[in-house]
Amino acid sequence: MASGGLFSKQRTFRPKKKWERGTLKYELHKRAKASLNAGLDLKNAVALPADEDANDWIAVHVVDFFNRINLIYGTVGEFCTESSCPVMSGGPKFEYYWADEVQKKPQKLPANQYVTKLMEWIEKQINDENIFPSQVGTPFPKTFLATCKKILTRLYRVFVHVYIHHFDKLIAIGAEAHINTCYKHFYFFVTEFKLVDPKEFEPLRDMTARICR
Ligand SMILES: [Zn+2]
Repeated sequence: MASGGLFSKQRTFRPKKKWERGTLKYELHKRAKASLNAGLDLKNAVALPADEDANDWIAVHVVDFFNRINLIYGTVGEFCTESSCPVMSGGPKFEYYWADEVQKKPQKLPANQYVTKLMEWIEKQINDENIFPSQVGTPFPKTFLATCKKILTRLYRVFVHVYIHHFDKLIAIGAEAHINTCYKHFYFFVTEFKLVDPKEFEPLRDMTARICR
């Protein structure tokens, strides 16, 4: 693991997870993308197509959001340092502590270390064939939805941190419209399938009300 600036270029632009061509997940990924490109209303674009399995639909979106949010954080990563962000937070009222299978007791971490752990943890889940099977006919585990909820909840915190602490940088590089679109897509998706506890939306409540009408 890189030390110091945890999000070195190499870490920041971690390889995207891709579905293999010819698999159902790949087709679904393309389909989801096509409906977005067709200018379909984001709120309609997230709805489960009539002939599709909800788990497959959720799996491709989770991977897609992971790839996109990872890139968004990457664009501000160099400004998110241990001195600028000594704790993973969303303003003074919201702090997030890290816990996982190894670190059982929630731990206070600088935001960049927290996000690194978060992205690595998600990467591990989505690359685990037992959790995210890529082949048609391989059943999803019973824990699949619970895992997706946890992944999406954690990804949401990256939005919270980036919007509240680094939005000026996103504006400076002209990425505001891009992150807003990604946020809206994410928000409509997780609310459509009730995948994130609404209390998580609290730090961005006003903004969400404004852009996700
Ligand atoms: Zn930061």
